[in-house]
Amino acid sequence: MSQVGCSIFLEIESEESLATDLDRCVRKGAPHAREYRMRARLQFDYPHRLERGAAANVGRVIEPWIPAERSIVVVSDTTVAGLYADHVMRSLQSAGRATSPLVLISPGEKSKTRETVDHLIDRFLSLGIHRRSVVLALGGGVISDTVGYVAATYMRGIDYINVPTSMIGQVDAAIGGKVGVNHPRSKNFIGTFHHPLAVVIDPDLLTTLPVEEVRNGLAEVVKIAMIHDADLFELMEKAGEGLLAPAVAGPRIDEIIARAIRHKIALLEPDPFEVDLRRVLNFGHTFAHPLEVNAGYGFLRHGYAVSIGMCIAARVAFGRGLLTSDTLSRLLALLSRLGLPTEGPSGDANEVWHHVQVVRKIRADHLHFVIPVAIGPTRIIDDLTREEFVAAYR
Ligand code: NAD
Repeated sequence: MSQVGCSIFLEIESEESLATDLDRCVRKGAPHAREYRMRARLQFDYPHRLERGAAANVGRVIEPWIPAERSIVVVSDTTVAGLYADHVMRSLQSAGRATSPLVLISPGEKSKTRETVDHLIDRFLSLGIHRRSVVLALGGGVISDTVGYVAATYMRGIDYINVPTSMIGQVDAAIGGKVGVNHPRSKNFIGTFHHPLAVVIDPDLLTTLPVEEVRNGLAEVVKIAMIHDADLFELMEKAGEGLLAPAVAGPRIDEIIARAIRHKIALLEPDPFEVDLRRVLNFGHTFAHPLEVNAGYGFLRHGYAVSIGMCIAARVAFGRGLLTSDTLSRLLALLSRLGLPTEGPSGDANEVWHHVQVVRKIRADHLHFVIPVAIGPTRIIDDLTREEFVAAYR
């Protein structure tokens, strides 16, 4: 079975080898048991196009990947739609593509819920969206996570493409096929992996992004630089506050987005279903999600929580004598220059530790923390104590 841009190969063992397996089964003393094994090898291969102006030309951009007869339904939030939905719809239609009426949700983290999933499924059904339709997710990380999850489950899964419009979306959320929504007690608790057919990234869209949302995304770029790319870290140190104005920073912004995408893909490729929970990409996040839950969804932006989470992890590393004060200061200084928080909200350390323990339970006691030991290398620890956490929190 194969689809454009994403191929799935199923390999079933030969009759002969099945018989041998059964033989073995019988000989092991389980005469009633039959065991058939299906070995599935999954291969994902889809494009990430980074190009200024690509969103307003998306109809043509996707032509090589998605056959013309497949109709498209665009889903966005009301803020993003007010700015870009017209361009995107016009571009699809002028490329001869059939489109369904635009589907909208409210902007922000508060929409990343099961209720929104229900609403979208009902809308899709009433619009006659079918197995061959393609969903175009136009928006930030809330849109790609929520719409990707709906695409994963509607009629047992339909195809979608991501056109990320926020900095977080372009450098992180739209890449990797991790989709889902929040549970009141745990962030991203309900979800799955559903890779898009394509990701179309247009940095021109960032010019309308409020500065706090630019910061929000830059936190994820600092994360990737800190765990994987010392040159990118230096590039960000040189550009500093200049990165907060994407309209002015132009080529530098394109460069950091390109590097973030490349690194995320490279780090995900060996483990696309996140079987290994000890992934370096979780740097900052094991603390960020509890911080977000504790603050209440929508009250602490994801990137801001990641910023605090990275600082906690770095202070833990420093406290253990694994990170120099110079490197710790460089991380704190870069985040501060980008206007990102470096300390947890006052008075909340014990509550946040409680939410860390909720995550520990979800992971069946296997909770690992990625701590930096320099810019680039990291170490995984699993023996963090409450006292250490509280000391590193602020
Ligand atoms: P978001 O989608 O809520 O966007 C933030 C705000 O910016 C919204 O109000 C939105 O309307 C607005 N906006 C977006 N693009 C705009 C533009 N071009 N111009 C003007 N306004 C614009 O949230 P986000 O910050 O993009 O993403 C955060 C979410 O992403 C979190 O839920 C987080 O868990 C998720 N995330 C997922 C992954 C993943 O791998 N799946 C990775 C990182 C983050």
